[in-house]
Amino acid sequence: MSDVHDRLKSIIQSSDNIVFFGGAGVSTESGIPDFRSEDGIYNMKYKYPPEMILSHSFFMQNPGEFYRFYKDKLLYPHAKPNKAHYALAELERQGKLKAVITQNVDGLHHAAGSVNVLELHGSGNRNYCMACGEVFTLDVVLEADNIPLCPCGGVVRPDVVLFDESLDQRVIAESVNAIRNAEVLIVGGTSLNVYPAAGLIQYYRGNKLILINKSETSYDDYASVVIRDSIGETLSKVVSPVVG
Ligand code: ZN
Repeated sequence: MSDVHDRLKSIIQSSDNIVFFGGAGVSTESGIPDFRSEDGIYNMKYKYPPEMILSHSFFMQNPGEFYRFYKDKLLYPHAKPNKAHYALAELERQGKLKAVITQNVDGLHHAAGSVNVLELHGSGNRNYCMACGEVFTLDVVLEADNIPLCPCGGVVRPDVVLFDESLDQRVIAESVNAIRNAEVLIVGGTSLNVYPAAGLIQYYRGNKLILINKSETSYDDYASVVIRDSIGETLSKVVSPVVG
């Protein structure tokens, strides 16, 4: 282990009030590509940019095209948690980690055993009927030929926050509270350039900010530890045991 890993390990060992904030990079290590990434998951196949397709107004006008993109590019039902998810679940079991705040909608933190997960953008594993409110698992989406329908005839939508929708205020409030009271804040898999990540990090008042990201972030200068590497590799070096 390098010096920087030793420092991270000792910070984690000496704290029982750690909060993790994660972006798309946490899921890419489970084989889920960032749908905004440049290497063109939406090149050619779709007439509209992903931000337009993944909006409430687009969904209402064209649910079929929404679901074609959504099932093709956002749903990875066979993806499994990676070392990062398991390491964070282990830290929570040890009583050291208070919350995972995620921008991902894949549910992999829950799948790895984490309990207090604040899903800023909702979860694709939860779906509900827009007419009667009936709740469905992911299966209703996977099993539908195109648009999933409720027995009542209503259209079922995923409980994810679309681009022109506002975030759940309760989730935001709990995230702000967790970050504000955290002793250690570990941020992974995000460049912190995009709302709401950048705004939320500003609530942190401690002096142990850890940034783990493959590329530079806008907060590198403020961090105690900066590691430009995979989150799964990094956390599995400093957390034990990591059982996946
Ligand atoms: Zn219904």
